[in-house]
Amino acid sequence: MNLSMFNLEGKIALVTGANTGLGQGLAVGLAEAGADIVAAGRSVPTETEAAVKALGRKFAFVPADFSKPSIAGDVAAQAEAALGPVDILVNNAGMIKRNDALEFTEAEWDEVMDVNLKSAFFLSQAVARGMVARKSGGKIINIASMLSFQGGIRVASYTSSKSGIAGLTKLLANEWAGHGINVNAIAPGYFATNNTDALRADEKRNTEILARIPAGRWGQPSDLAGAAVFLSSRASDYVHGTIVAVDGGWLAR
Ligand code: NAP
Repeated sequence: MNLSMFNLEGKIALVTGANTGLGQGLAVGLAEAGADIVAAGRSVPTETEAAVKALGRKFAFVPADFSKPSIAGDVAAQAEAALGPVDILVNNAGMIKRNDALEFTEAEWDEVMDVNLKSAFFLSQAVARGMVARKSGGKIINIASMLSFQGGIRVASYTSSKSGIAGLTKLLANEWAGHGINVNAIAPGYFATNNTDALRADEKRNTEILARIPAGRWGQPSDLAGAAVFLSSRASDYVHGTIVAVDGGWLAR
């Protein structure tokens, strides 16, 4: 097999929420495989910029608050103006609100759905319009979750958004495969990031979760790089609408 099919040199990847956590791991992983990176998000991605530049890759930052999905077209345009046409989009920015379903508020519902689902759709649309107009094809990777498959507890809007991401991934794959655009998702298991601080700080939940992970450890952001490079590269040209679980075996239990 020719390993050059995994090479991302000359490709431009737009990664949302790349300043920390999984987005940082994804951006650095794609840069290691050769891609230049545009990070879009609300916090300045100083650490990620240093790591990407240390790999000899270009880096640009587009400020973006994805609780306002109407900014998507502008973010795509700014990304293109910064480094050139986007070949790879990773919809990673996401948030979670925890509350009992009986107490859950409309604000807790709306903000999570806007960031995790609505912005992911409209940014995909904006980037895909460019890919279709250029007839270039491209790669879109959505970040799903174990709660794209399971219900979870006390996270009504998060589960709804991530189950929505699973459906949206398949719908967009159906509509855009004919344009040479591969739309797929990665479903991370339980990873050590800000998103799971509350779970890891709760000794009982932490022990329960670890006991259920066959790999016996929380995931690290770098654990996602292999799947991300595969789904961003020519190696996945015939892969459409799939959700790759990177979960230490969680779903197999
Ligand atoms: P994280 O450390 O909290 O990072 C979330 C990222 O999203 C940050 O860059 C954050 O920016 C950004 N973000 C949140 N709200 C935003 C907004 N309104 N506008 C722009 N950017 C915004 O969490 P993470 O674990 O890396 O999560 C990354 C993705 O993986 C999310 O979609 C999450 O649902 C998903 N995921 C995580 C796990 C896990 O175990 N950690 C498992 C499955 C799926 P700020 O730094 O400015 O807040």
